[in-house]
This record gives sequence, C-alpha cells and structure tokens, in this order.
Amino acid sequence: MLKRVVIILLIGLTAVSLLWGVWRWSYNEALVQLEVRGQGNLSLASDRLVSQFGRYRQLPVVLSDNPVLREAVVRDPKESFQDISIFLERAADVTGALDILLLDRSGTTLAAANWQDDSFIGVNFAGRPDFVRAMNGALGFYHSQENADDPRGFYFTTALRDGLGNITGGISIKVDLEVLEVEWRGDPEIIFFTDANGVIFIANRHSLLLRVYGDYDELLSNEKESQRYVRAQLQTMFPFAEDEKFGRTRWVQSEDFEIPLRSLYLKTPLPVIGMTGNILLDLKPVEEQARLRTALAAAFLVMLGLLIMNLLQRRRTLADLLKIEEKATAELEIRVADRTAQLQSANEHLVQAGKLAALGQMSAGISHELNQPLAAIQSYAENAVILLERERTADVSKNLGQISSLAGRMGRIIRNLRAFSRKEGEPAGEVDLVKVVEDTLELAGIRLREKNVVVHWVKPTKPVLVIGGGVRLQQVVLNLISNATDAMEVQSDPQIWLDISRSNAVYLKVRDNGPGLEDKDKIFEPFYTTKPIGEGDGMGLGLSISYGIVQSFGGQIVGENHNDGGAVFRIELTPAEAK
Ligand code: ADP
Repeated sequence: MLKRVVIILLIGLTAVSLLWGVWRWSYNEALVQLEVRGQGNLSLASDRLVSQFGRYRQLPVVLSDNPVLREAVVRDPKESFQDISIFLERAADVTGALDILLLDRSGTTLAAANWQDDSFIGVNFAGRPDFVRAMNGALGFYHSQENADDPRGFYFTTALRDGLGNITGGISIKVDLEVLEVEWRGDPEIIFFTDANGVIFIANRHSLLLRVYGDYDELLSNEKESQRYVRAQLQTMFPFAEDEKFGRTRWVQSEDFEIPLRSLYLKTPLPVIGMTGNILLDLKPVEEQARLRTALAAAFLVMLGLLIMNLLQRRRTLADLLKIEEKATAELEIRVADRTAQLQSANEHLVQAGKLAALGQMSAGISHELNQPLAAIQSYAENAVILLERERTADVSKNLGQISSLAGRMGRIIRNLRAFSRKEGEPAGEVDLVKVVEDTLELAGIRLREKNVVVHWVKPTKPVLVIGGGVRLQQVVLNLISNATDAMEVQSDPQIWLDISRSNAVYLKVRDNGPGLEDKDKIFEPFYTTKPIGEGDGMGLGLSISYGIVQSFGGQIVGENHNDGGAVFRIELTPAEAK
C-alpha cells in the first residue's frame, strides 16, 4: 500500500515537473521570438525617428552657408532684422520647421520665422546646451516645451562663421514633435523615447507623454533641468512592477491602463539625439502559447497514462488467466497420475487373479489327467499280477503295454506343465500356432473326452509361425476350449471346430454349437460371467485376460454368435515373417 502511494506520488511529481519543463520551454521559445521581433520593431522605430530628424538636421547647416544670414549677424543690432525674419519665415514654410532663429554670438535672438506671433526675438539662449555645442563648432541638439500651449520642440543648432572662419552667431531650427508622432500613432506596439532625465518626450501613446520613467522628485527639485518642461504637466510613471523573467525585463502593471498587463520591456540607446528608445511587447500570446502547449502535453500524458493502465490491466488479467489455467492443468495432471496409478494397481490385481485362476484350472485339470491314468495303471498292474499267477503271459504283456502307454501320457502332461512354468513371462517371439493348438488339445483332452465333445481340427501340414508367447497363447486357446466345453455342458452332441487361416494376418477360429453368447459386448469385461459363482471356474476373468494377452502380441480377439448357432471366437495374430 505504502509502495503504491510512493509510486503514485513519484509519477505525479514526474508529470508535474515534465509539464513545468514543457511550459518553461514553450514560454522561453515564444519569448525569444517576441524579443527578436520587438528588437526589430524598436530599431525600425528608432531609425524612423532619426531619419525624420535627418531632414531638419541638415537645415541649419545649409542655412549657415547663406551669405545674407552670415552678413546679417554682423550688422548693427539696432537695425531692423525684419527682412531676415521674412526670409526665415519662408524657409520654415518650405521645410516644415516649426521655427527658425538667427542668434548673435551672445545667444540673443536677432530674427525669427515666427516674428509676427509671440516670437523669441530678443530672447537669449546663451546657456542652452545646443547653443553651447554650436559655439564650440559642433551640431547642437536640444528638446524642450516652453509653454503649456506650445508643442514639444526639438532644436538643432549650428554656428555661423565669417570669411575667416570665426564664429559670429548661430542658426537654430525647432521641429514640432507632434507632427512626427502623427505618422506612427497606429503602431501596435508601445514605443516611447526617454531623455536623460527619464522623461518620456516622444511616444506613440499620448497617455505616456511627459511621464517620468526615472526619479520624479529629483527632477522637480533640479531647477535647471526641469525648466525645459512645463512643470505642471510632468507626471509620475503609471504604477507597474519591473521584474526579471528568463533573463529578460518584464513589466507587470496592476491597474487598468493603456498598456498590457504583462509586457516584455526592451530598450536601445540613441546617442545621435541623446535619447533612449523603449518598447513594450504584450506577453499574452507568449503565455497563451506556453499554456496551450502545456495543455496539449498534459492531454498527451493523460492519454499515455490511460494506455499504460489499460496495458497493465490486460497483462494482469492475462497473468490471472494463465495462473488459473496452470492450476487447472496441475490438478488435472495429479488426477491423471492418480487414476493411472489406480488402473495400474487394478491391472496388476487382475493379472494376479488371472494367474491364480489359470493355475487353479490347470491344477484341477492336471490332477484329473494324472489321476485317471494312475488309477488305470493301478488296475492294469493288479490285473497283471492275477494274470501272471494264472500264467496268462500274453495278457500280462498286453497289460504292461497299456501301463507303459499310460505312463508315456503322464510324462507328456508333466512336460507340458514344466513348459508352462518355464516359459511364463517370456517376451513374445516366434511361435508355431499349430503346435500351440496341438498342445492345448492334449491338455484339454481328458475333459473333452469326458464330456463327449467332438473336436473338428484339420491340422495344417506346415507350421504357422506367429508373433507371441507359446504358453500364453496356449492359455488363451485353453480358455476358449474350456469356455466352449462349459457352454455345451447340457448339449446332446457337443462339438468344437478349430481352424487356422491366413491372409494378411493369421486367424485362429474356435467355434462351438452351444447356446451362444448372451451378451457379446460384455464378455471381455473383467468379472463378467454367467456361470454360478463358487463352482470353480466362474470368475469372469478368462476372456479379459485373454484379450490382454492377444493385444500384447499386437493382435486382437473378437467373439460373436454363429449364424448356425453357437459362439465363435476369432483370434487375429501377426505372422512371424511380417515382423
Ligand atoms: P468365466 O469363464 O469365468 O465365466 P470368461 O471371461 O472366460 O469367464 O467368460 C465370460 C463369459 O462369457 C462366460 O461366463 C459366458 O457367459 C460367456 N462365454 C464365453 N465363452 C462362451 C461360449 N463358447 N459360449 C457361450 N458363452 C460363452
């Protein structure tokens, strides 16, 4: 149970870390793409701004070569500069500049394109950085918003020189930033430009303008720096938190503002105009992509899990089935072994009983066989004594002849008995079926004669060799003859036919003219008998043992009723040459 819980926890932990890895990887991949795109867009926007400025940058340089202006700055300052102002006004109209100023060496405005309005004529710009730079011979630039109603301006200032190259004054161009911004209001990304003070001075979102992305309080306390803006319009930055994620800066804002909730922040310095370009890119698509891929991975994991569970379940079911089958097979094997052992022992008992029955039958037959000649010998011998006393030698010799023949028969009977005991249990070999029948008839002879049984036996002229054991075959034939004799007990003309025939196999037929078989399907069953029990033979074993013996020689035995009445048994045996 504990092991299961630990495994489930481990799998869960692995799945979670895997999903986290997928999320991280997807997020990072999308983030890199976004960053590349953002950087491209930012540099594009910066280039656009710089090139927009480019038009105006050239203007003061071009004008500084103008002889009218060069001559004007060295004029008596008390003279009217109206003609110059008109000239500047025209130049401003043509170029789209907001204002063009002519300054003397001290920075005081001599003439201005806006001379008719609330103009800068007479105003001194000596301290302004662009003027200072221009007086040092370089192109000066500066940005400022003088009044709340004025547009935000960007100045480019350059020096005027006399024929000797001495600086005599300056030309200053003012560019209206709002006019530039109009072009890029539709940009999807939020782009803004901050100056050295962190003030957002140019932006494609109006709400961001004049917010201080820097130290607001420090800027306000700096009298000199803050005067270039309309102080009342300066605002603090909208509330947002800046953090680092995957090595990149992220802006997270919590209030409902014009910018995305979470965005990637990139910046690039623009020293040419003294500003920094900034871009904010919405992180939503990145997060969505990461979420989508993670969800897909989770779905895949769930499916994989289900598949594995299904497979495991199937394997478990299969294993259970196999186990059940194995158990059943094992049980079956045990039962088969038990049954085999039972059959074996039954068979052994059967064989033993059969042997005993055969032995009983034989000893009964033998004692009968030996008793009769013995009694005859006795009476012949007694007769011979009397005949000898009467000196009837011819009769004596006849008696002695009878005694000798009777002794001869006794000898044969004993020889048979010896053969029986000697060959018992020998393996099957070649045996002459004719001799088997002869010997059996010899054994059964006395009983057959006693019962007046007529035996029809046409003895084949040549031996018929079959596969078998002599004694056991004799036992079989003897059993058939005794059964026939038994069956014809009350018969008036008992007869037995014995006959050997050959085709592919060798057949021995034993037929009688008795009452026939009562139930021919049962006769080979052990202990099937119709004879009264207890009268010597009726054990019902003879045929079943015979059946086993014939089968052990590769043959078979069948019993049926003859058409003319009586029973007929046929033994089929393998001819010896066939082996
Ligand atoms: P048993 O002789 O001890 O009865 P067997 O197995 O030799 O045992 O014979 C079984 C039975 O087959 C006999 O009881 C008898 O009913 C029947 N049987 C055998 N041979 C004959 C036959 N020649 N004629 C009629 N019935 C026979």
